[in-house]
Order: sequence, then C-alpha cells, then structure tokens
Amino acid sequence: MEDLAEKTGISLQKLEEAKKKNKLQLIEWSIPYYRFKEKVEHIEKGTVAFITSKGLELVRGFPKIPRALVISTGFKKNFEKAFAEEKMDGYNVRTVMIEGKIISLTRGGLVCEYTTSRIKKTINEKFFKDYPELMLCGEVVGMQNPYQEKSYPEARDFGYFIFDIRNRTTNKPLKHSEKIRMLEEYGLKGVRVFGEFNNGKDILNLVRKIGAEGREGVVLKTEEGKMLKYTANQSTNKDLQYAFTFYNDYGLAFMYRRLVREAFQAYELGLEGEELEKEASALGKSILIPMVETIRKIARGEEVTEDFEIEVPDEETGMHFVENLKHLGVIATIREVRKSGNSVIMKISRHYPSTNDRTKAFLEGASWSD
Ligand code: ATP
Ligand code: MG
Repeated sequence: MEDLAEKTGISLQKLEEAKKKNKLQLIEWSIPYYRFKEKVEHIEKGTVAFITSKGLELVRGFPKIPRALVISTGFKKNFEKAFAEEKMDGYNVRTVMIEGKIISLTRGGLVCEYTTSRIKKTINEKFFKDYPELMLCGEVVGMQNPYQEKSYPEARDFGYFIFDIRNRTTNKPLKHSEKIRMLEEYGLKGVRVFGEFNNGKDILNLVRKIGAEGREGVVLKTEEGKMLKYTANQSTNKDLQYAFTFYNDYGLAFMYRRLVREAFQAYELGLEGEELEKEASALGKSILIPMVETIRKIARGEEVTEDFEIEVPDEETGMHFVENLKHLGVIATIREVRKSGNSVIMKISRHYPSTNDRTKAFLEGASWSD
C-alpha cells in the first residue's frame, strides 16, 4: 500500500479509506493487482497497479470523453480544427506488457484473459519490446465477445482497433500524427480517420451519413489529444432497442439521456414535417417493438436472454471469463461447449431476471403502483 501511495500520489489514509469503501480492490491473479473500481482523487476508474517482481507497475484508466449535444456550437466552443475519428461501438480495451506478458484490461480495470488471448494473436509484440511504458487503447468489436456484440464488415467476429497510444503511468497521449506514424510502423490496426475538420456542420453531416451505414459516430481529437464525442440518432435507436428488450434491467437515466440526445440532433438537423415524423417513428419503434416482443416471449413461457458465443483456446480461459462477468454483476450460464479446431467455442446466455420476473408478474395480473 505504501508503494501504491507513492506511485499514485494518493495519501495512504485516502487509499485505506477507498479500500474500505470497496473503491479499491486487490485482485488475485498470476500477477496480483490493485484495481480502482471507482475514481479516487485524480486516479481514473479502471486504473490498475500490478504487483510485480520489480515493484508496482501502474496502468492508468482510460479518461471519460465529454459529449456534444449540439455539434455546431460544441465544435466552436472546443476547437479551431480537429481530426474526426470513427467512434467504434464495442468495448474499451487497454493492452500493456507487464513482466514480459501481453495483458488486456477492460474499461473497469479487470484483466480479461479471453480478450488477451484474442488480441495476442493480432498484435506485433515488438511494439512493447521497443516501448514498454506505452499502452495501446482500442475498441474490441465483433460478435465473438461478451460485452457488446456488434458486427462490422471489417471485423465480423473479433477486431481490435486502436484509437490512442498513451504513457501508461502518466496517461499522456502521443500526438495524433505521432500515433498514426507508430501504428503504421508496427502494423497495428487503427480506427478510421475521416480527416481534419474546422466546423461542426460538416461533422453533423458526416455523422448522419455513417449513422445510416450502422456506425455509431465520431470522436473529435486535436493534435494534442483533447477529445469530444458525437454520435448518430440511428445508433442511439439501436441502444434503445436493446435496452427496452430488457426494460426493467436498464436504468431510467440510461434511456432518458438517449432521448434527450435524439431531440437535439433532430433540432440541429432542422427536421420538420414528414422528416420529423420519420425520425419520431424510428425512435418510437425502437422502444415499443422490442418491449412487445419481450412480453410476447415471456407470455409464451420462454425466458428473454442475451445469447452470444466466445472462442477460447481452452475451457479454462472460458471459465475465467464467466468469472469476470460475475465481478461485473452479470449473471451468465454456459449453454454449450464445442471443440472447433484448436479452440473451444462456448455458447453463453446472459440472464435478465428483473425484466423476466416483472413481466411475468404483470402478465399474471400484478398491478403497478404508479
Ligand atoms: P465515457 O466514460 O467516456 O463517458 P462511455 O463508457 O459511456 O464513455 P461511450 O459513450 O461509448 O462510452 O464513449 C467513450 C468510449 O468510446 C471510449 O471509452 C472508447 O472505448 C470508445 N471509442 C470508440 N472509438 C473511439 C475513438 N476513436 N477514440 C476514443 N474512444 C473511442
Ligand atoms: Mg461505447
């Protein structure tokens, strides 16, 4: 703990306090590590400190990115010019090298052996041999993942797209141009860069266009690394569809924030008449249809679950992964285990007891005290 205080600049007393409140955890693993489950002072949520033979090795959490609701003014307020990168819709993964081992961490600061095993196969280790103090920050997308399944034409099952390279101790990002150069040099796959922009109107048009292709939106970045995110209503609708399928398991805040986002985009686009009705209908469909489908399914005596597959080198990695889900408060069961060449395919179901139980109760006549 003294060592952790020194490395993070947080006082010992504050650290003890955080530990008591479960904001700071000690996780047993082949390399044990401290995990900041929540933000503590200036140390981001998701920060990890590995306990190695050479002492503590810090890996800082990925920072929060502010979101613009009105992009024309939001742009002006923040930038003269900025690069627009695609915002990919998957899960955030930081990859580092600790004691000569490549390790991938989830946003919340857990080692994910599954993700590590997949990423190891795709990245050039030489990068970490040359720059052991740097971390790759990227988005994992594709269907074969547990946290957020969305297929991309460029990565149907599993892809890792880097969007930042940072010093893992200080969290300072490389300059945008430097990052692009390094990705090229080491043959690492980066997110798409749409170019440099000097106004928000063009960003709005771009985001609507890529939104129509099923993509989420953009993250704007200056050369120095200042960031702002902006996403398309089309992708917000997809979030809503998903959330309303499991309507009782998602917080109201999650849904409300998305409705507000959509209103500002419709306003900024100047939608009126038929166009506005079309937007409203798309939004309404994203809410009503999934809920009606959920109710029907439960009325038929079935359970609504989210089903996905993972591909792992062996069953043990898969089990570790299901354990990790428990840490995240996710209830999951393994439905099927099947060998496929050198790997194992596991079919997993995620359960949403609250939505299922409540819907069943309503169907059986329970009243809602509202
Ligand atoms: P936050 O904690 O930043 O508010 P969140 O967890 O709610 O975010 P998002 O709204 O999806 O997540 O936005 C931020 C996330 O977007 C980042 O953490 C990162 O995983 C992801 N992302 C995808 N593409 C990019 C990109 N090009 N640049 C930066 N982040 C990206
Ligand atoms: Mg995201």
